Amino acid sequence: MAHKFDPEICAKHLSGVVQFPTVSDHDEANMDFDVFFGMHRYLEETYPLVHKHLKKEVVGTAGLLYHWQGTGESGKLPLMFMAHQDVVPEGDHSKWKYPPYAGTIAEGYIWGRGASDCKSHLIAQMEAVEYLLSIGYQPSFDIYLAYGYNEEVGSGKGEASCAQMISRLLESRGVRFEGILDEGGGLRAGKNVGVDVPVCMVIVAEKGYADYEISRKDPGGHSSKPGKEGAMYHIAKAIMDIEENPFPYRITETVKTRYETLAPYMKEKKPELAELMTDIEGNWDKLVPMIDADRDLASMFHTTMAITMASGSMQANILPEKASIVVNCRLLEGDTLETVEQHFKNILPEGLEVKLLQGNNPSPVSEYKCAFKDLLVEISGDREAEMIAIPDITVGGTDAKFMYNLSDHVYRFSSFYKRSNAGGVHSVNETMGVEDLASGPEFYVELVKRYGER
Ligand SMILES: [Zn+2]
Repeated sequence: MAHKFDPEICAKHLSGVVQFPTVSDHDEANMDFDVFFGMHRYLEETYPLVHKHLKKEVVGTAGLLYHWQGTGESGKLPLMFMAHQDVVPEGDHSKWKYPPYAGTIAEGYIWGRGASDCKSHLIAQMEAVEYLLSIGYQPSFDIYLAYGYNEEVGSGKGEASCAQMISRLLESRGVRFEGILDEGGGLRAGKNVGVDVPVCMVIVAEKGYADYEISRKDPGGHSSKPGKEGAMYHIAKAIMDIEENPFPYRITETVKTRYETLAPYMKEKKPELAELMTDIEGNWDKLVPMIDADRDLASMFHTTMAITMASGSMQANILPEKASIVVNCRLLEGDTLETVEQHFKNILPEGLEVKLLQGNNPSPVSEYKCAFKDLLVEISGDREAEMIAIPDITVGGTDAKFMYNLSDHVYRFSSFYKRSNAGGVHSVNETMGVEDLASGPEFYVELVKRYGER
């Protein structure tokens, strides 16, 4: 990596943005947008060159879209880097080691809600562009930065999503991108995927998300004369039906490539599985019971259904007039909200109502075998020669899912090389490593320069 960023300065800037409690809510009326506008002013003061040379548009109430116009000499398609401004609520203050919005820098970390998810990405991108401007760098292609404000509540509510507004705006202008990078994935230790070598994860798709309510109505009445087969009886049977009729396991191209690439490195820990995974199609019959016995594996090979909520009557001596469960589903590529609903209708008896509460289909799948991915892998390889690259899918939702209309290469690919144990995303004590943070802008600078040179 060519230019090294000062970790202390990056940390100070991240600490600055963490001090704005940009909590999002399903209902915009409940959001304090002055906090967002305060953060925008902080960004203006902290990154003067970005705000002098890039065109900034406010999208929706507080979305930020920056456009750095290149010379156009290379004829290359633009790149877009994404993050989100909003954070999830901080929870119980007393459980935080340092206050959630103080932006404390201590013990080698920046502490606070949003320090990792997702303000670290925003700061890394701003630092990179500010630096490139400071050395007089002029890209030969356009660069966009896109920061929504309701990612954390956007799942399943596409219409109000700032990312979707940005996507539509750019589509209406006919902008196409060579690559779009959002949070997730990237170069990291391989232990989470069961290998000892570092892994460069290029997340090409995300599973869909859906909550279905399954309910049964009944006349109800007094519990002293319950009769037989009340609403709860039918719901209990429905639970059994759902558990006994999972979606069949199946092979998708992304998951196949992922495991066949990892297989040689899984030998020590799981020799039998590793051997079978070298040829997933050929060994499918032997693999299915192993997949079935491992919840991590299973989630990669089918649409999951988790029964998470149940309700009956509100009082112990009242028969329920309605009993219901909520089934949270994560849809694998190939399934849709319609096929999942149909599945419920196929396996459940008459008399039960199936209702979609909220949901979104799985994202499309970005191309993996391409020069843009190779460039990300090449830069990662300069950091860790031993690393292996894999395509991956995520079960979490990101704003990237709204961008597939703009590019064949929409990846969740983090610029950070995480060596430390930063964590606390969506829980207490969220942190970002000071040294790790400085690795982010380095990556973007290298990517912009090398992409321009090819
Ligand atoms: Zn996030």
